[in-house]
Amino acid sequence: EPLLNMRDISKSYGNVRALRHVDAAVYPGEVMGIVGESGSGKSTLLRMMNLEDTPDSGDYTLRLPGRENENLFDLTRYERRMLCARNIGIVYQNPHLGLLMKHSSSGNVAERLLIAGERSFEVLRDKAREALDASEFPLDRMDARPIELSGGMQQRVQLAKAIALEPALLLLDEPTTGLDVSVQALVLDTLKRLQRDRRITMVLVSHDLGVIRTMADRVMVMRHGEVVEQGLADQVFQDP
Ligand code: ADP
Ligand code: ADP
Repeated sequence: EPLLNMRDISKSYGNVRALRHVDAAVYPGEVMGIVGESGSGKSTLLRMMNLEDTPDSGDYTLRLPGRENENLFDLTRYERRMLCARNIGIVYQNPHLGLLMKHSSSGNVAERLLIAGERSFEVLRDKAREALDASEFPLDRMDARPIELSGGMQQRVQLAKAIALEPALLLLDEPTTGLDVSVQALVLDTLKRLQRDRRITMVLVSHDLGVIRTMADRVMVMRHGEVVEQGLADQVFQDP
């Protein structure tokens, strides 16, 4: 049974049909890769998965305790925000979208936990430290502000923030795009280790087939807002 199930999602922005009748299913513990050229609808779909945006039509269920059959797009904005804060982690390509650049790195992670309802100072401190450590962020830099850090380190802070709550679902939007190739490899290694050790269900958007090949179990190929192919990564990449 899928953890994430989206059915018949359509969305237009003015005349642009960003998503057309998209179906997506993601199973527990797997890494789903979404590939497609620029403008094909990948980020829009990820924003829907994160409940940041809602479609014109279609429904979305996540297999969370007590909410199995609920169409999450029927929730109010506040309810969507709370559900998202407690259950979904996201890493954006642009760290400015995911981080408060002028707060400390540990403060960024702690803030995420605060939003989700954690109030104990000791728990906030310990969980932030643990998440940064698991993201292979150097703990002696915990007090540094993201603006003072390299791109690779900023992505590790975003990752720590995303996993601090042990989310049911981790969404990654071009997490290594724009980083130096050597740094990309390090961040991918961290993601792979997290996947192996914690079995986090991930959805990874990338235009880079190399990244998808190293990470994804299954792949969705998008073109002009439609899913044109979906299957096991090995099979999708074998096609002529
Ligand atoms: P991708 O992530 O594959 O590059 P996007 O999901 O960003 O594609 O965009 C799909 C299409 O929808 C593009 O034509 C884009 O310009 C359009 N689009 C996405 N978000 C918006 C928005 N908020 N307002 C207007 N058009 C948008
Ligand atoms: P509004 O449209 O009123 O500003 P939204 O709930 O649509 O409220 O979200 C506003 C912004 O907050 C979004 O554009 C998004 O970038 C950010 N956002 C929403 N949910 C998350 C989340 N789980 N993690 C990080 N940023 C989020």
